[in-house]
Amino acid sequence: MKFVSFTFNNNNTLSINDLNFVERAWDEWFKSFNNELIATALISFLMHEIVYFGRCLPFWIADFIPYFQKYKLQPKEVNTVQKQWKCMKSVLLAHFLMELPLIFSFHPVATLFGMEITTVPFPHWHKIAYQVAVFFVFEDTFHYWFHRLLHYGPFYKYIHKQHHEYSAPFGLTAEYAHPIEVLILGTGTIGGPLLWVALTNDLHLITVFIWISLRLFQTIDAHSGYDFPWSLRHLLPFWAGAEHHDYHHMAFVNCFSTSFRWWDHIMGTDLMYKTYRKKKDEAAKNLKRINEKEKKAKVN
Ligand SMILES: [Zn+2]
Ligand SMILES: [Zn+2]
Repeated sequence: MKFVSFTFNNNNTLSINDLNFVERAWDEWFKSFNNELIATALISFLMHEIVYFGRCLPFWIADFIPYFQKYKLQPKEVNTVQKQWKCMKSVLLAHFLMELPLIFSFHPVATLFGMEITTVPFPHWHKIAYQVAVFFVFEDTFHYWFHRLLHYGPFYKYIHKQHHEYSAPFGLTAEYAHPIEVLILGTGTIGGPLLWVALTNDLHLITVFIWISLRLFQTIDAHSGYDFPWSLRHLLPFWAGAEHHDYHHMAFVNCFSTSFRWWDHIMGTDLMYKTYRKKKDEAAKNLKRINEKEKKAKVN
Protein backbone atom coordinates (compact mmCIF):
# COMPACT_ATOMS: atom_id res chain seq x y z
CA MET A 1 0.00 0.00 0.00
CA LYS A 2 1.17 3.51 -0.79
CA PHE A 3 1.39 5.62 2.38
CA VAL A 4 -0.02 9.10 2.64
CA SER A 5 2.77 11.58 2.22
CA PHE A 6 2.99 14.93 3.97
CA THR A 7 5.79 16.27 1.82
CA PHE A 8 6.06 18.98 -0.77
CA ASN A 9 7.85 18.26 -3.99
CA ASN A 10 11.01 19.88 -2.59
CA ASN A 11 10.79 17.59 0.44
CA ASN A 12 9.99 20.33 2.98
CA THR A 13 8.12 18.61 5.76
CA LEU A 14 4.50 19.63 6.12
CA SER A 15 2.51 19.55 9.34
CA ILE A 16 -1.13 18.42 9.57
CA ASN A 17 -2.07 22.05 10.37
CA ASP A 18 -0.94 23.10 6.90
CA LEU A 19 -3.67 20.98 5.32
CA ASN A 20 -7.14 22.30 4.65
CA PHE A 21 -10.33 20.59 5.86
CA VAL A 22 -10.82 18.51 2.72
CA GLU A 23 -7.18 17.40 2.61
CA ARG A 24 -7.37 16.29 6.24
CA ALA A 25 -10.61 14.39 5.60
CA TRP A 26 -9.02 12.77 2.53
CA ASP A 27 -6.01 11.70 4.60
CA GLU A 28 -8.23 10.34 7.40
CA TRP A 29 -10.40 8.39 4.94
CA PHE A 30 -7.47 6.55 3.41
CA LYS A 31 -5.78 5.95 6.79
CA SER A 32 -8.99 4.44 8.17
CA PHE A 33 -8.90 1.67 5.57
CA ASN A 34 -6.26 -1.01 5.38
CA ASN A 35 -6.90 -1.38 1.71
CA GLU A 36 -6.32 1.51 -0.69
CA LEU A 37 -8.28 -0.18 -3.49
CA ILE A 38 -11.44 -0.53 -1.36
CA ALA A 39 -11.04 3.00 0.05
CA THR A 40 -10.73 4.41 -3.49
CA ALA A 41 -13.65 2.40 -4.87
CA LEU A 42 -15.98 3.29 -1.99
CA ILE A 43 -15.26 7.01 -2.05
CA SER A 44 -15.56 7.05 -5.87
CA PHE A 45 -18.94 5.30 -5.78
CA LEU A 46 -20.22 7.53 -2.94
CA MET A 47 -19.08 10.65 -4.78
CA HIS A 48 -20.84 9.51 -7.95
CA GLU A 49 -24.14 8.72 -6.17
CA ILE A 50 -24.18 11.92 -4.08
CA VAL A 51 -23.35 14.19 -7.03
CA TYR A 52 -25.70 12.40 -9.47
CA PHE A 53 -28.83 12.30 -7.32
CA GLY A 54 -27.95 15.55 -5.52
CA ARG A 55 -27.76 17.40 -8.85
CA CYS A 56 -31.02 15.85 -10.10
CA LEU A 57 -32.88 16.97 -6.97
CA PRO A 58 -33.27 20.74 -7.73
CA PHE A 59 -34.70 19.96 -11.19
CA TRP A 60 -37.11 17.43 -9.68
CA ILE A 61 -38.26 20.08 -7.15
CA ALA A 62 -38.60 22.68 -9.96
CA ASP A 63 -41.27 20.46 -11.57
CA PHE A 64 -43.55 21.19 -8.60
CA ILE A 65 -43.03 24.98 -8.63
CA PRO A 66 -45.30 26.83 -11.12
CA TYR A 67 -42.87 29.79 -11.41
CA PHE A 68 -40.23 27.61 -13.13
CA GLN A 69 -42.60 26.12 -15.71
CA LYS A 70 -42.01 29.00 -18.14
CA TYR A 71 -38.39 27.85 -18.44
CA LYS A 72 -39.32 24.32 -19.53
CA LEU A 73 -38.12 23.46 -23.03
CA GLN A 74 -41.03 21.13 -23.78
CA PRO A 75 -43.75 22.48 -21.47
CA LYS A 76 -46.46 20.17 -22.80
CA GLU A 77 -44.55 17.05 -21.75
CA VAL A 78 -45.25 15.85 -18.20
CA ASN A 79 -42.68 13.83 -16.26
CA THR A 80 -45.10 11.35 -14.71
CA VAL A 81 -44.21 9.39 -11.59
CA GLN A 82 -44.26 6.18 -13.67
CA LYS A 83 -41.76 7.60 -16.19
CA GLN A 84 -39.44 8.79 -13.41
CA TRP A 85 -39.69 5.57 -11.40
CA LYS A 86 -38.87 3.42 -14.45
CA CYS A 87 -35.83 5.58 -15.15
CA MET A 88 -34.73 5.59 -11.49
CA LYS A 89 -34.88 1.77 -11.22
CA SER A 90 -32.85 1.31 -14.40
CA VAL A 91 -30.23 3.88 -13.37
CA LEU A 92 -29.84 2.39 -9.86
CA LEU A 93 -29.52 -1.11 -11.31
CA ALA A 94 -26.81 0.09 -13.71
CA HIS A 95 -24.98 1.91 -10.90
CA PHE A 96 -24.82 -1.16 -8.65
CA LEU A 97 -24.43 -3.95 -11.22
CA MET A 98 -22.24 -2.23 -13.76
CA GLU A 99 -20.62 0.97 -12.57
CA LEU A 100 -19.64 -0.39 -9.13
CA PRO A 101 -17.56 -3.30 -10.53
CA LEU A 102 -16.01 -0.91 -13.06
CA ILE A 103 -15.15 1.51 -10.25
CA PHE A 104 -13.30 -1.34 -8.46
CA SER A 105 -11.22 -1.95 -11.56
CA PHE A 106 -10.26 1.75 -11.77
CA HIS A 107 -7.69 1.74 -8.94
CA PRO A 108 -5.31 -0.91 -10.38
CA VAL A 109 -5.28 0.84 -13.78
CA ALA A 110 -4.89 4.31 -12.27
CA THR A 111 -1.98 3.29 -10.04
CA LEU A 112 -0.36 1.37 -12.90
CA PHE A 113 -0.19 4.66 -14.83
CA GLY A 114 1.13 6.50 -11.76
CA MET A 115 -1.93 8.43 -10.59
CA GLU A 116 -1.54 10.00 -7.14
CA ILE A 117 -4.31 8.65 -4.92
CA THR A 118 -3.68 9.28 -1.23
CA THR A 119 -1.16 12.11 -1.43
CA VAL A 120 -1.87 15.37 0.37
CA PRO A 121 -1.74 18.33 -0.07
CA PHE A 122 -3.69 18.38 -3.31
CA PRO A 123 -2.20 19.93 -6.47
CA HIS A 124 -2.50 23.71 -6.97
CA TRP A 125 -5.92 24.77 -8.28
CA HIS A 126 -4.27 26.16 -11.45
CA LYS A 127 -3.11 22.67 -12.35
CA ILE A 128 -6.49 21.14 -11.48
CA ALA A 129 -8.27 23.75 -13.66
CA TYR A 130 -6.21 23.23 -16.80
CA GLN A 131 -6.29 19.44 -16.51
CA VAL A 132 -10.10 19.52 -16.09
CA ALA A 133 -10.35 21.83 -19.15
CA VAL A 134 -8.33 19.29 -21.20
CA PHE A 135 -10.67 16.47 -20.07
CA PHE A 136 -13.72 18.51 -21.07
CA VAL A 137 -12.37 19.08 -24.60
CA PHE A 138 -11.27 15.45 -24.96
CA GLU A 139 -14.61 14.06 -23.74
CA ASP A 140 -16.65 16.39 -25.92
CA THR A 141 -14.73 15.33 -29.04
CA PHE A 142 -14.93 11.64 -28.13
CA HIS A 143 -18.62 11.93 -27.34
CA TYR A 144 -19.47 13.79 -30.56
CA TRP A 145 -18.00 11.12 -32.86
CA PHE A 146 -19.11 8.06 -30.92
CA HIS A 147 -22.59 9.52 -30.40
CA ARG A 148 -22.85 10.03 -34.17
CA LEU A 149 -21.78 6.42 -34.65
CA LEU A 150 -24.48 5.29 -32.19
CA HIS A 151 -27.06 6.90 -34.47
CA TYR A 152 -26.02 4.59 -37.31
CA GLY A 153 -28.63 1.89 -38.18
CA PRO A 154 -28.00 -1.23 -36.06
CA PHE A 155 -26.05 0.67 -33.39
CA TYR A 156 -29.08 2.90 -32.89
CA LYS A 157 -31.57 0.04 -33.00
CA TYR A 158 -29.77 -2.23 -30.53
CA ILE A 159 -27.89 0.21 -28.31
CA HIS A 160 -28.70 3.93 -28.42
CA LYS A 161 -32.50 3.64 -28.78
CA GLN A 162 -32.84 3.11 -25.02
CA HIS A 163 -31.37 6.54 -24.26
CA HIS A 164 -33.84 8.10 -26.73
CA GLU A 165 -36.86 6.52 -25.03
CA TYR A 166 -37.43 9.88 -23.34
CA SER A 167 -38.02 12.48 -26.06
CA ALA A 168 -38.51 15.09 -23.34
CA PRO A 169 -35.65 14.26 -20.95
CA PHE A 170 -35.35 15.09 -17.24
CA GLY A 171 -32.23 15.08 -15.03
CA LEU A 172 -32.33 11.37 -14.13
CA THR A 173 -32.33 10.32 -17.80
CA ALA A 174 -28.70 11.51 -18.15
CA GLU A 175 -27.41 7.99 -17.40
CA TYR A 176 -30.45 6.09 -18.68
CA ALA A 177 -28.75 4.09 -21.42
CA HIS A 178 -27.91 0.60 -22.66
CA PRO A 179 -24.90 -0.94 -20.78
CA ILE A 180 -22.86 -0.96 -24.01
CA GLU A 181 -23.54 2.77 -24.45
CA VAL A 182 -22.50 3.38 -20.82
CA LEU A 183 -19.23 1.54 -21.59
CA ILE A 184 -18.58 3.35 -24.89
CA LEU A 185 -19.43 6.89 -23.80
CA GLY A 186 -18.00 6.35 -20.29
CA THR A 187 -14.64 5.73 -21.99
CA GLY A 188 -14.69 9.38 -23.08
CA THR A 189 -15.13 10.46 -19.46
CA ILE A 190 -12.55 8.24 -17.77
CA GLY A 191 -10.29 7.71 -20.81
CA GLY A 192 -9.15 11.34 -20.79
CA PRO A 193 -7.66 11.22 -17.27
CA LEU A 194 -6.13 7.74 -17.84
CA LEU A 195 -4.53 8.83 -21.11
CA TRP A 196 -3.30 12.02 -19.47
CA VAL A 197 -1.67 10.24 -16.52
CA ALA A 198 -0.17 7.60 -18.84
CA LEU A 199 1.44 10.36 -20.93
CA THR A 200 2.42 12.88 -18.24
CA ASN A 201 2.61 10.83 -15.03
CA ASP A 202 1.08 13.88 -13.36
CA LEU A 203 -2.47 13.55 -12.10
CA HIS A 204 -4.16 13.36 -8.70
CA LEU A 205 -7.36 11.46 -7.96
CA ILE A 206 -8.94 14.66 -6.56
CA THR A 207 -8.64 16.22 -10.04
CA VAL A 208 -10.46 13.19 -11.50
CA PHE A 209 -13.19 13.59 -8.84
CA ILE A 210 -13.61 17.30 -9.68
CA TRP A 211 -13.72 16.47 -13.39
CA ILE A 212 -16.33 13.72 -12.95
CA SER A 213 -18.46 15.93 -10.67
CA LEU A 214 -18.44 18.74 -13.23
CA ARG A 215 -19.16 16.29 -16.05
CA LEU A 216 -22.16 14.97 -14.06
CA PHE A 217 -23.34 18.54 -13.49
CA GLN A 218 -23.02 19.15 -17.24
CA THR A 219 -24.88 16.03 -18.39
CA ILE A 220 -27.70 16.35 -15.82
CA ASP A 221 -28.12 20.03 -16.76
CA ALA A 222 -28.21 19.04 -20.47
CA HIS A 223 -30.99 16.51 -19.75
CA SER A 224 -32.86 18.67 -17.22
CA GLY A 225 -35.47 19.95 -19.68
CA TYR A 226 -34.99 23.49 -18.29
CA ASP A 227 -33.27 26.46 -19.90
CA PHE A 228 -33.04 29.13 -17.19
CA PRO A 229 -31.89 32.72 -17.85
CA TRP A 230 -28.97 31.91 -15.50
CA SER A 231 -28.00 28.71 -17.35
CA LEU A 232 -24.34 28.62 -18.35
CA ARG A 233 -25.01 28.75 -22.12
CA HIS A 234 -26.23 32.35 -21.73
CA LEU A 235 -22.80 33.28 -20.33
CA LEU A 236 -20.69 31.07 -22.61
CA PRO A 237 -22.14 31.01 -26.17
CA PHE A 238 -20.15 27.87 -27.05
CA TRP A 239 -21.59 25.91 -24.06
CA ALA A 240 -24.26 23.48 -25.28
CA GLY A 241 -26.53 23.30 -22.23
CA ALA A 242 -30.04 21.87 -22.05
CA GLU A 243 -31.41 23.84 -24.97
CA HIS A 244 -28.96 22.11 -27.38
CA HIS A 245 -29.27 18.51 -26.11
CA ASP A 246 -33.02 18.75 -25.51
CA TYR A 247 -33.44 19.40 -29.24
CA HIS A 248 -31.48 16.18 -29.93
CA HIS A 249 -33.92 14.19 -27.79
CA MET A 250 -36.97 15.94 -29.25
CA ALA A 251 -35.95 15.67 -32.92
CA PHE A 252 -33.70 12.52 -32.81
CA VAL A 253 -31.27 14.33 -35.16
CA ASN A 254 -28.63 17.08 -34.91
CA CYS A 255 -26.73 18.30 -31.80
CA PHE A 256 -24.52 15.28 -31.04
CA SER A 257 -22.08 17.08 -28.73
CA THR A 258 -22.36 17.19 -24.96
CA SER A 259 -20.50 20.14 -23.47
CA PHE A 260 -19.66 22.43 -26.39
CA ARG A 261 -21.33 23.52 -29.61
CA TRP A 262 -18.26 23.70 -31.85
CA TRP A 263 -18.23 20.16 -33.32
CA ASP A 264 -21.86 20.41 -34.45
CA HIS A 265 -21.15 23.86 -35.88
CA ILE A 266 -18.01 22.71 -37.76
CA MET A 267 -19.64 19.53 -39.10
CA GLY A 268 -22.96 21.20 -39.97
CA THR A 269 -24.93 18.83 -37.74
CA ASP A 270 -26.84 21.69 -36.15
CA LEU A 271 -28.52 23.22 -39.24
CA MET A 272 -32.00 21.86 -38.47
CA TYR A 273 -31.59 22.93 -34.85
CA LYS A 274 -30.59 26.46 -35.91
CA THR A 275 -33.64 26.73 -38.23
CA TYR A 276 -35.90 25.50 -35.42
CA ARG A 277 -34.40 27.98 -32.99
CA LYS A 278 -34.77 30.86 -35.46
CA LYS A 279 -38.46 30.03 -35.95
CA LYS A 280 -38.96 29.74 -32.18
CA ASP A 281 -37.25 33.10 -31.56
CA GLU A 282 -39.36 34.76 -34.29
CA ALA A 283 -42.56 33.29 -32.85
CA ALA A 284 -41.61 34.58 -29.38
CA LYS A 285 -40.93 38.07 -30.83
CA ASN A 286 -44.28 38.08 -32.68
CA LEU A 287 -46.13 37.04 -29.54
CA LYS A 288 -44.42 39.85 -27.62
CA ARG A 289 -45.43 42.35 -30.33
CA ILE A 290 -49.08 41.17 -30.27
CA ASN A 291 -49.18 41.41 -26.46
CA GLU A 292 -47.76 44.95 -26.55
CA LYS A 293 -50.31 45.98 -29.20
CA GLU A 294 -53.14 44.56 -27.09
CA LYS A 295 -51.84 46.41 -24.03
CA LYS A 296 -51.71 49.72 -25.95
CA ALA A 297 -55.24 49.14 -27.37
CA LYS A 298 -56.57 48.56 -23.82
CA VAL A 299 -54.92 51.79 -22.57
CA ASN A 300 -56.42 53.82 -25.47
ZN1 LIG B 1 -28.59 10.35 -29.59
ZN1 LIG C 1 -29.19 12.47 -23.97
